[in-house]
Amino acid sequence: MACEKPEFPAVDKPGYAADNRFRWIPSMFLPHVYCRSISDLPPERLRELGVDAVLVDVDCTLKRYRAEQVTPEAAAWLASLRTAGIGVCLVSNGVGGRIGRLAERLGVPFVAGALKPLPFGCRKAIRRMGFDRKRTAMVGDQLAADVWAGRLAGLKTILVAPIHPEEEPWFTRLKRPLERCVVERFVRRPRT
Ligand SMILES: [Mg+2]
Repeated sequence: MACEKPEFPAVDKPGYAADNRFRWIPSMFLPHVYCRSISDLPPERLRELGVDAVLVDVDCTLKRYRAEQVTPEAAAWLASLRTAGIGVCLVSNGVGGRIGRLAERLGVPFVAGALKPLPFGCRKAIRRMGFDRKRTAMVGDQLAADVWAGRLAGLKTILVAPIHPEEEPWFTRLKRPLERCVVERFVRRPRT
């Protein structure tokens, strides 16, 4: 198997397809878990995975790229985490004003300008929130931003399918083929 043995089992098991042709890709570049939507990550599932705090990407994870508001599913998910006592902090590469307004409406803390895939924003969020790194997951839609930042910060990483990726700017769309390759080759999609 190309990936490290998941001490952190996949949401829709088995998390990784054994594909020896892609053995050369280090597990460092792969998510621990892939799921189609944040709705597949209810609090009880996060607890099962050993997670009691999440850092959450914003664009294409909680909302459409150009939308001002998160989707109803995302709002319900965040509310369910809060009720269950799962820690939440938004971690976005977006600018502070826009992300700050959205976080304020949702009543959740945030770190903007996070410079993912660098780990600094994730580390800042963990420090500020007092989360336990070993029990925190970075949840986001981009392999080459959210997953790598989470991995570099020593967190668990959950890749979710993007919401309407066709609305993203060209520089983000450029990264999607690599992501699709990884998702399709390594991670079995949950059955519908
Ligand atoms: Mg995103």
